[in-house]
Amino acid sequence: MELSNRVKTLTPSSTLAITAKAKALKDAGHNVIGLGAGEPDFNTPSYILDAATSAMQEGLTKYTPAGGIVDLKDAIINKMKQDQGLAYNRNQVIVTTGAKHALYTLFQVLLNPADEVIVPTPYWVSYPEQIKLAQGNPIFVEAEEKNQFKLTPAQLENTISAKTKAVIINSPSNPTGIMYSKEELKALGEVCLKHNILIISDEIYEKLIYTDDPHVSIAEISNQLKEQTIIINGVSKSHSMTGWRIGYAIGSETIIKAMTNLASHSTSNPTSIAQYAALAAYSKGDEQVEKMRDAFQDRLTKTYEWLCEIPGVTCVKPKGAFYLFPNVKEAVKMNGFNSVNDWVEALLEEEKVALVPGSGFGAPDNVRLSYVISLDQLEEAINRIKRFVMKHQ
Ligand code: PLP
Repeated sequence: MELSNRVKTLTPSSTLAITAKAKALKDAGHNVIGLGAGEPDFNTPSYILDAATSAMQEGLTKYTPAGGIVDLKDAIINKMKQDQGLAYNRNQVIVTTGAKHALYTLFQVLLNPADEVIVPTPYWVSYPEQIKLAQGNPIFVEAEEKNQFKLTPAQLENTISAKTKAVIINSPSNPTGIMYSKEELKALGEVCLKHNILIISDEIYEKLIYTDDPHVSIAEISNQLKEQTIIINGVSKSHSMTGWRIGYAIGSETIIKAMTNLASHSTSNPTSIAQYAALAAYSKGDEQVEKMRDAFQDRLTKTYEWLCEIPGVTCVKPKGAFYLFPNVKEAVKMNGFNSVNDWVEALLEEEKVALVPGSGFGAPDNVRLSYVISLDQLEEAINRIKRFVMKHQ
């Protein structure tokens, strides 16, 4: 049976591919250290598990409204008020099956064939594929390493065309860990307002920040920008709840209503039990979240130092998320490989360390490492990478 044209150009997620390869080696008995994962290594906090158990026992296991239970919407609205000082109503929120499906649904309701969405590179792997699935065109613009991987207002202005519908801003970023300041967001926002472009602000790593700079949502900067922005967020990364699949989108009533209609014919509601778990996550304060954040910060500080000692490796210091995105171009050249992909493959074969090649993120000179394993394991992994680089010199 011939498949649809729509899926023929779909590329599988490169993060999942490397994780699968590392798992196969592990299953075959090798001592593999995987640095490819995109999820925290902590258990979901116990008060969240308890809320899910209670929900099951109380029979809260039936359909809910497609856009999510009212209590969870209210908890999200409350969180937005507390964390960002932003006021929304229930018609402006949709609870989704993870932030990923919030984005998928958003592109489906937003884009007509050939509409353009500006995607700064390096980007999270699913943005371009989701835009293409909605028959839109991802327009890539290189957020350069010399600019700390940040899109500049001039670059944004130059990339806008009559077909541009939206731009994605992901701060803190996967894969680079960089974070935009308020001033930088304000300048980008002005360009968006001037050209009437929707801002899709993916804030899934909002709670994982390792500097004194606060997280700023572009929607906080002015009322006009708030109206022009759809915020995407969820509990996956903040509360170590990747498997529960709860995210949300918040913003324009018209867009959220369309997304809710679409969800009512696709996923229906996200899992009822997971919604009650997320309700507990957002109702209890951030104590547990901060414990996880502190552990990540410690790992980042040390791993960054070790990484920078490897010959031919340079790295923009991340401010958030849980990834390092070093440039390994010099090391790859020095080691006599033709591409970063080949280098990554040889590293996995020889030293059993799994990294994700940057090509999947639109940055072929880089690799992504997640620091979601213990410090001991991280130290061992960096030692192995160093040994590999030295051996091939
Ligand atoms: N946005 C970014 C930048 C991510 O890195 C991820 C997950 O890796 C998501 C969205 C999706 O998260 P969720 O687990 O809520 O679907």
